[in-house]
Amino acid sequence: MNNKLQKYKHMKIICIGRNYYEHTKELKNAVPLEPVIFLKPDSAILRNNQPFFIPDFSKNLHYEVEIVFKICKVGKTISLQFAHRYYDNIGIGIDFTARDLQEKCSTQGLPWEISKAFDSSAAISKFLPKTEFENIGNINFSLLINGKQVQLGNTSNMIFPIDKIIAYISKFFTLKTGDLIYTGTPAGVGPVKSGDNLQAFIGERKMMDFYIR
Ligand code: MG
Repeated sequence: MNNKLQKYKHMKIICIGRNYYEHTKELKNAVPLEPVIFLKPDSAILRNNQPFFIPDFSKNLHYEVEIVFKICKVGKTISLQFAHRYYDNIGIGIDFTARDLQEKCSTQGLPWEISKAFDSSAAISKFLPKTEFENIGNINFSLLINGKQVQLGNTSNMIFPIDKIIAYISKFFTLKTGDLIYTGTPAGVGPVKSGDNLQAFIGERKMMDFYIR
């Protein structure tokens, strides 16, 4: 295994659902009182602007653009005031979701992993050091499909900000260096189709540019 892949060995991906009010409304979900958490395995990672291939088990494959934090040290039951010490890099990702399967799982009261954690379902950009940001509680991010903006978010609108997320999830899971936290998507989710070009931005900076196949 080469060094680049080695970096993503033995890491986990923790995702937060329903973390933006307008998005919970568009999917007709209740606003959560505690963070909604699910995991993806390391085999879900899609890097280096590689194309995303629509899996044949879904007829309604959705994009969800999300700000992603990378964990930089091991921690368990981390207190809110020290949470900021546990991440050092910020990127942007797409939480690809088989919406039809997710609805089926949810309706039946079953875990939704097959709709969220399948291979290549976690597209990820390069990372920027958090020191480049004046205020991580006020970061604009956006997704363009075929040149048209479909999602625009700001981290100030998270229902649970990153430090609260870290304090909460570390009660249940030990966080390890290299783990990624997907922090939820703003409103504007929708389907992708073969041939679409996705470009994700943090502020004015283009972080990802890849195609759906
Ligand atoms: Mg999501």
